[in-house]
Amino acid sequence: MDQYSDRHVHTIQAAVLRKKGGPLEIETLEMEGPRDDEVLVRLVASGICHTDIDFCDNWDETDGAVVLGHEGAGVVEQIGKRVKGIKPGDHVVLSYQSCGRCRKCRDERPAHCTRFDELNFGFQRLDGSNGLQRSGIRGHFFGQSSFATHSLGTERNLVKVSKDLPLELLAPLGCGLQTGAGTVINSLKVSRKGSVAVFGTGAVGLAAVMASRLAGADPIIGVDIKPKRLKLALELGATHIIDNRHQDVSARIIDITGGGLDYVVETTGNPIMYRLAIGALNPQGVVALLTGETGTDSLPEGRRTLGIIQGDAVPQHFIPRLIKLFRAGQFGFDRLVKLYEFKDINRAIADARRGDTIKPVLRMSKASRQTLRQSRGS
Ligand SMILES: [Zn+2]
Ligand SMILES: [Zn+2]
Repeated sequence: MDQYSDRHVHTIQAAVLRKKGGPLEIETLEMEGPRDDEVLVRLVASGICHTDIDFCDNWDETDGAVVLGHEGAGVVEQIGKRVKGIKPGDHVVLSYQSCGRCRKCRDERPAHCTRFDELNFGFQRLDGSNGLQRSGIRGHFFGQSSFATHSLGTERNLVKVSKDLPLELLAPLGCGLQTGAGTVINSLKVSRKGSVAVFGTGAVGLAAVMASRLAGADPIIGVDIKPKRLKLALELGATHIIDNRHQDVSARIIDITGGGLDYVVETTGNPIMYRLAIGALNPQGVVALLTGETGTDSLPEGRRTLGIIQGDAVPQHFIPRLIKLFRAGQFGFDRLVKLYEFKDINRAIADARRGDTIKPVLRMSKASRQTLRQSRGS
């Protein structure tokens, strides 16, 4: 008999990853009800982020089956006894998880939480348990595993949002858009008239372009290999674009800036682009690395690289700020979003892999409220 036999168990649908590269299969699973500090969210939508695709493509099958997804948005169904600030019926966006106890969390720097990796990539709670263990699957990816009809989050990674904006639109704020915009605003603190290049104009890069425009940067140079994305970069605030299939990036940057760059936001993870970024920097210039690398600290004349996590954003402060900017017409991220039904998750992933869709957002079954079944655990 397992130790959670007295908890309510919910029947949910989730897209399960069982083998490297996918496809994800939508399966019926049993999920525990919320623990004292947890919140059960009925998901209305989830963005697909490149980190989901990377996990899928590099999954080691001996690690078992998991549920990915970390840009969820939905409606609160149930709360645990110790949850204070969120109640059933609230609309929430889910973001990354943090422990709330370590020094960094207490200093309001949750992106630097000492238990960040365990909480976001460990596919379990900190005590080693798992809300999906009855089904032999692991969840809790980024404290949410949002490729599902339901998710268990906590107050640390839930952000209450107003009910007058569609949750399908707000979902990608939880990771990609927060990371791109936060890098410019919080991590780099891009200055007015600072020169910026954004390498890779996917969702994260385009959020960085929009935030650079808000910061008053000039020039703002978008670099990519997809003409469609470059065109969008121009529309969203880039002053110049470089198609690096056909143009010499370094020469064009010198041409545009008359020297070098104060900031590069590097979202491609491509070593060639990384070297180009370093080579294009002004003295004191900074390269922000958004793909997990930490870079080097041995660059001349005060040049620096910064490994950035989640744009140093505190989700509960930063996501409402982005929503306010959106309402004011200054952060038009709706233009990046394309909606898919949940059952079409593999097509959405394929479209994102090819770069045809910038930010796929899955719509979970509208009938999920009716199909949520609850029974006493046995
Ligand atoms: Zn992400
Ligand atoms: Zn922490």
